[in-house]
Amino acid sequence: MSVLKVNEMFETIQGEGFFTGLPAIFIRLQGCPVGCPWCDTKHTWTLDPQMDIPAEQVLAKTTDSEAYFSTDAASLVKRILSMGYKAKHVVITGGEPAMYDLTQLTGLLIESGYSVQIETSGTFEIQTHPDTWVTLSPKVDMKGGYQILDQTLQLANEIKHPVAMQKHIEELDALLARPVTNPQAMVYLQPISQQRRATELAVATCIKRNWRLSLQTHKYIGIE
Ligand code: SF4
Repeated sequence: MSVLKVNEMFETIQGEGFFTGLPAIFIRLQGCPVGCPWCDTKHTWTLDPQMDIPAEQVLAKTTDSEAYFSTDAASLVKRILSMGYKAKHVVITGGEPAMYDLTQLTGLLIESGYSVQIETSGTFEIQTHPDTWVTLSPKVDMKGGYQILDQTLQLANEIKHPVAMQKHIEELDALLARPVTNPQAMVYLQPISQQRRATELAVATCIKRNWRLSLQTHKYIGIE
């Protein structure tokens, strides 16, 4: 898809992974067929044409909803530049943002002086400017039946794996063992939904394996 469908756009602090603590402009794209049971953005799953509304209304939303606006990449970058944001880092998330061809959007943002990060489940081929930072949060064996693609493991700058139980560590081991996986990728464990047992498992495993811990810090401090 090259017409971008934007569920929300806002400035905040990146709460997870390598860029934790960095002010960032988040662009949340609509649409995801992956089907993670614990997904905290289920309102982004559907692509209902009746929910395609004017950008101003989408940007004024105060609660999560399935409404989105459609835009081309150049208009979106123009809009970002006019919003008065101070952040110089853009996070493209979803939904599953790799359902879209993001080559033009990421290229224009980088040309405009932003660093750009995409957060993806690894189930769709990534189409971005080569300088885009790829955060792969692999969603293995979810309801939608999608596989983690080699190309996404190859491009990953960080692999931020959601964990709640030992089988999730084994899934990660299997992904890291794939010969295509970027050997330089930083490995993070992120406890699912801040559950206590998940956090304990993540901490113990990070210490044992010399991996990094990613907490959803925005949820602990109550920001978006
Ligand atoms: S891939 Fe992301 S947006 Fe899609 S269902 Fe899973 S957690 Fe939700």
